[in-house]
Amino acid sequence: MSKRDYYDILGVSKGASKEEIKKAYRSLARKYHPDVNQGDKNAEEKFKEVKEAYEVLSDDNLRARYDQFGHEGVKSEGFEGFGGAGGFGDFGGFGDIFDVFFGDQFGQRRRSNGPEQGEDIRAELELTFEEAAFGVEKEVKINRKEKCRVCSGTGASPGSSPKTCPSCHGSGQIKVSQRTPFGQFQSIRTCSQCSGAGTIISDPCQTCQGKGRVNKRRTIKVKVPAGVEDGMRLRVAAEGGSGLRGGLPGDLYVFLNVKPHEIFERQGNNVFCECPISFAQAALGGEIEVPSLDGKVKMKIPEGTQTDTVFRLRGHGIPHLKGSSRGDQLVKVKVVVPTGLTEEQKELLRQFDDTVDDTNVAGKEKGFFKRVKDAFMA
Ligand SMILES: [Zn+2]
Ligand SMILES: [Zn+2]
Repeated sequence: MSKRDYYDILGVSKGASKEEIKKAYRSLARKYHPDVNQGDKNAEEKFKEVKEAYEVLSDDNLRARYDQFGHEGVKSEGFEGFGGAGGFGDFGGFGDIFDVFFGDQFGQRRRSNGPEQGEDIRAELELTFEEAAFGVEKEVKINRKEKCRVCSGTGASPGSSPKTCPSCHGSGQIKVSQRTPFGQFQSIRTCSQCSGAGTIISDPCQTCQGKGRVNKRRTIKVKVPAGVEDGMRLRVAAEGGSGLRGGLPGDLYVFLNVKPHEIFERQGNNVFCECPISFAQAALGGEIEVPSLDGKVKMKIPEGTQTDTVFRLRGHGIPHLKGSSRGDQLVKVKVVVPTGLTEEQKELLRQFDDTVDDTNVAGKEKGFFKRVKDAFMA
């Protein structure tokens, strides 16, 4: 087979910049990578070809020689040690590809035979306004993978034990050597016989089908501290999935949903509410009863209280998550205008209204009244 031109392989022009070459290489390497095309010989060949082309064209020195002498030029003595004793040597950019491309999608495939931490688990927990304010102990139901008790997590049926994998001798990885005009190259693959575990189970545990873990439904007690807010999450350490091969368990993350309250609204650590008062209460002042997180509390309002006035009840708010103090309750009073009056009530009001004059209008309202009045008089 005659060798293809390196520029053609990467699909770049002879004058391509280093950046263009790198870009072309990355996209082709992704496309033909053996991990993505398992068992596809054609893709594997293409991958090797792309790799080889890049190794030459990404090196100024080699590229110059290749440009001048073609494939022959890069076959000569200067090549020993290129790629070195193993691994990828200064095979630029390879690590990036693994990180970016295999990071998430193929994470599971990159198994090793070392300890592996268990999965983190997410759970939702609904709380009432009061539970969030004062804290509560609740239960959440979760599904998680737990170590199989029958085989103690080994995956081998009781009485047997996992054997060291004969293909990879327990490392879980296979080194693949490849001869190229530049010397010997080695790449590392996950052992296909043991899928990277390093051990082989010939007699799998019946309970877990050799997986070493089983699905369990569990009820976990969660202590919710006072002062939490909607959208917060609690971490319950070590209540996630069991680890593999001695790895630590994952954590449980409990996401809190706080239901809105009928009358209270949270404003930081303060509790806000509106409270209706009668016209007479507003005018005469006195003590009114206000609902609070601590039950009904008495609140004094002064004579001549206007609607929308906000009063503060100290210490009746929500406890601070860190600390012992509490926020306040803010009460906005709403003066309610009476409706459906009897003729007698109306008459009383008329008599009353005849006695009211400018001196009965308070504060800023006074100016407003005066301005309106003057406007009509003018
Ligand atoms: Zn088992
Ligand atoms: Zn193996």
